[in-house]
Amino acid sequence: MTRDPRYDILFEPVQIGPVVARNRFYQVPHCCGMGHVHPRTAAVMRGVKAEGGWAVVSTEECDIHHSSDVSPYMEQRLWDDDDIPQHQLMIDAVHAHGSLAAVELAHSGGEAPNHYSRTVPIAPSAIPVSSYEPVQARAMTKRDIRETREIYRKAALRSKRAGYDIIYVYAAHMLTLPCQFLSKRCNHRTDEYGGSLENRVRLLKEIIEDTKDAVGDTCGIAVRFMLDELMGSDGIECEEEGIEIVSLLAELPDIWDVNISDWDNDSATSRFKPEGHQEQFIKAVKSVTSKPVVGVGRFTSPDTMVSQIRRGILDMIGAARPSIADPFLPKKIEQGRIEDIRECIGCNICVTGDYTITPIRCTQNPTMGEEWRRGWHPEIIPSASEEGPILIIGGGPAGLECAVSLGKRGCQVTLADSNEELGGRVNLESALPGLTQWGRVRDYRMQQLHNLANVELFPASTMTASDIAEFGADHIVIATGAKWRKDGVGRQHAFALPGTEQSHVHTPDDIMSGLELSGDVVVYDDDHYYMGGLIAELLNSQGANVTIVTPATDVSNFTHKTLEQETIQGRLIDLGVAIRTATALKSIGKDSIEMTCIYSDQLSEIACDHVITVTARTPKDQLFHKFTAKMEGSEDVNVPQACCIGDCYAPGTIAAAVYSGHQYARNFGEPADDREVPFLRELTKI
Ligand code: ADP
Ligand code: SF4
Repeated sequence: MTRDPRYDILFEPVQIGPVVARNRFYQVPHCCGMGHVHPRTAAVMRGVKAEGGWAVVSTEECDIHHSSDVSPYMEQRLWDDDDIPQHQLMIDAVHAHGSLAAVELAHSGGEAPNHYSRTVPIAPSAIPVSSYEPVQARAMTKRDIRETREIYRKAALRSKRAGYDIIYVYAAHMLTLPCQFLSKRCNHRTDEYGGSLENRVRLLKEIIEDTKDAVGDTCGIAVRFMLDELMGSDGIECEEEGIEIVSLLAELPDIWDVNISDWDNDSATSRFKPEGHQEQFIKAVKSVTSKPVVGVGRFTSPDTMVSQIRRGILDMIGAARPSIADPFLPKKIEQGRIEDIRECIGCNICVTGDYTITPIRCTQNPTMGEEWRRGWHPEIIPSASEEGPILIIGGGPAGLECAVSLGKRGCQVTLADSNEELGGRVNLESALPGLTQWGRVRDYRMQQLHNLANVELFPASTMTASDIAEFGADHIVIATGAKWRKDGVGRQHAFALPGTEQSHVHTPDDIMSGLELSGDVVVYDDDHYYMGGLIAELLNSQGANVTIVTPATDVSNFTHKTLEQETIQGRLIDLGVAIRTATALKSIGKDSIEMTCIYSDQLSEIACDHVITVTARTPKDQLFHKFTAKMEGSEDVNVPQACCIGDCYAPGTIAAAVYSGHQYARNFGEPADDREVPFLRELTKI
């Protein structure tokens, strides 16, 4: 296949100071939960992006000094020369595919609590660190400022020695020291580094100039800058100061990488923001600088990318999440394989890696983070030593991914599902408010199945244990999902709650299947991810008077890790949903519920017509147990192997279901791994 000439513009080279990017695809810095602790994992992951066609591949934040220690978060480090060799692993992996390697040098100033180094944090003024911790930064003296400039300079020189092509000065996401100087909230100085905008910009300007002076002969200098903090006059506002700051520094860097802050605004989920949502802020940048501009917007459509360039918004298409979901996105456009793009769904499961301090994972791309330790490549899956036949029952995310990956390995696969439409839980959940793009989990896999003649699909086919036995496959994969519990058992309650057996108690499955409710409705959320908040929002939109009750101290608590919690709770408050936090359900009566405070055992009661229990899910594994029981009595010597995958094995996220399906397919026909740990680990050499 050849590329559509409409997309030729995306493959033009771009000059970035002394270096040239071979096309306009730019993987901007993004966290990956690997950092200085998992350098091989990171190097191979970034190398795969270069192989997939990203002309620039960047690190995550790279802290440049022990006074910028963001432990326990796993970021990169260049504190001294001892850090250089691990950077070279990544640089070599990126260079091997003809791409440029970029490093995002960062000093987090008063945002770094320095738990590991125990160095007292520094900031423009004496301010507390923003996390709720008993740590305050001290105000920097002039000497500190001089020393900090020197720290940046040394880090730039180290980066050059390591082999980086592009060196960043990071002034975005409100985390970094230069941003703290820009911000009136953090900078209360009265000397030449505080007060007027020109004074507040001074340190950033000096750092850019120092970096350019130190390494600008061979390295491109990038500035990552936040144009707006979306907090009104308390923060940087694009029209007030944001664009003026770019004007003041316009020609100093070799490329501008622009976005909005904080990270939750920059990486907003698809539930709250559409593709390209930052355009209104970044569109003015090109009018004040002649340097190339890169920006992000969860771009997955090549038409949108071309439009960004033709309309003069961006010169390079920046991506973090689209490059995570599909490291081969540029190659697929180049090869005219648009329909093969595995589009990011905007769920931010990738972000949870950073917050759980573990290597990144992705809902759409099960190989993300597994490139080195399991040797999984996102586009190459070896042929299987065995053909099957394999029967998969259930076409949700686990079953679909399993079928696609086994199909690509050349196996004979049959997939049966009770429903007319394949997709399982994705069909139900993508119909919830704001989750339309989650349907891409199904759409990508259905598209891939079209091209796999060795995979047969049987929708509208409910399978029984006898059907399976009669089918005669050698391998049976049960991917029949899970259902929400009604009895209230979850994290808070180990035993069924009194009253849950009543007919006015329902589960998310009932609501997602179309049950509409009115009157006073209580949503009891002991699941803590998106479902409780979404059911509350949906019922509210249908006119019910909704109260959400949760034992957690805030709503949808896990969504802190997907950068959504504040937006979710804010939206529920604005919609008029009543919120009772730190409260556990005690019992459900005919027209009321009794609750208990999780701290004090104080009781309270509210009237309600309906209760939705959002607590935990039960695997739908009866088919597996019936089939294995049936086979136990069989005299057939060739009893097929059966196993469960996805939610019917253990209920979890859609990402976990996809991973489970992929893992089955990868392992199929492979000899049992005799290592005690079935993947490579990065061990500290003693
Ligand atoms: P997962 O997240 O693990 O992929 P889902 O709940 O999304 O699980 O999907 C399970 C799928 O299995 C649903 O589409 C459902 O219709 C299908 N299914 C459940 N039981 C049977 C059965 N006995 N025969 C065929 N399909 C089934
Ligand atoms: Fe996109 Fe979700 Fe994958 Fe992140 S985890 S890259 S948001 S699909």
